Amino acid sequence: MTKQIYPEQLRGIKLQNKKVDYTLKISKRAKGMCLAVYCDGSFVVTKPIGLSENIVEKFIIQKSNWILSKLEYFKQFGVDVFKNDYQKYLAHKDEALDLVKERIKHFNKTYNLKFNKINIKNQKTRWGSCSKKGNLNFNYKILFLPKHITDYIIVHELCHLKEFNHSGKFWDLVNKAIPNHSELKKEINFPRAYARGISRVQASLVQRLLVPVVQCTL
Ligand SMILES: [Zn+2]
Repeated sequence: MTKQIYPEQLRGIKLQNKKVDYTLKISKRAKGMCLAVYCDGSFVVTKPIGLSENIVEKFIIQKSNWILSKLEYFKQFGVDVFKNDYQKYLAHKDEALDLVKERIKHFNKTYNLKFNKINIKNQKTRWGSCSKKGNLNFNYKILFLPKHITDYIIVHELCHLKEFNHSGKFWDLVNKAIPNHSELKKEINFPRAYARGISRVQASLVQRLLVPVVQCTL
C-alpha cells in the first residue's frame, strides 16, 4: 500500500470583516473537523479527507466568535514571545532569574521548602520542572506571562519539592498559596486530548499553554 501524503495548504477567510489566515490539514484519521488556535497566533484547521471545503468554511464562520476571541487572547503574550530564540533567551535570562528568585522567596515564607538550584532554561514545551535532586527549572518566557500565571507556575514547581506527583496532597499544598488555582486552570483551559506529544511530561495545565485551544465536531 502506498502512503498518501496530503500537504498542508494555506487559506484565508473573512471573519467579521477581518481577514484570518489558516493552515488547512487533511487527515486520514480525523472523523470530524477541528479548529486549533495556537499561542503564537497561528490557526490550524483539520478536516477528514472526503469532507468538502465548503462545509469546513461554514464551520469556521459558525465558530468565528470563538476563533477571534482566542486569537485576541493570545495577542497579549506578544507574537514572538514563544519563538525559540537563543539571543532572546540570553537577553532575558538574568531578569527571569531575578523574578523567579523573588517570587520563590515570597512563596517560601508559606512553604519553607529546601531546594538545591534555580535554573532558567530555554525550552519549547515546558514552563517549569522540578528535579529529584531538588533543582527548580523555569522557562525564561514566564517573564512575559501575566503575573498570576507566573506565580502559579512557580508555586506549582515549588510544591513538587514536597509532593513529586499531582495527587490530592499536591493540590492541597498549591492551594495554600494559590487558592484560585482551579479557576486559573479554567482560564487557561487547554483540553487534555491535545497534550499529545508532551504527555510524557507530568505537565500541569499551565505547562500546556504551548498546546492549542481547540473546537472540534464529532
Ligand atoms: Zn506538576
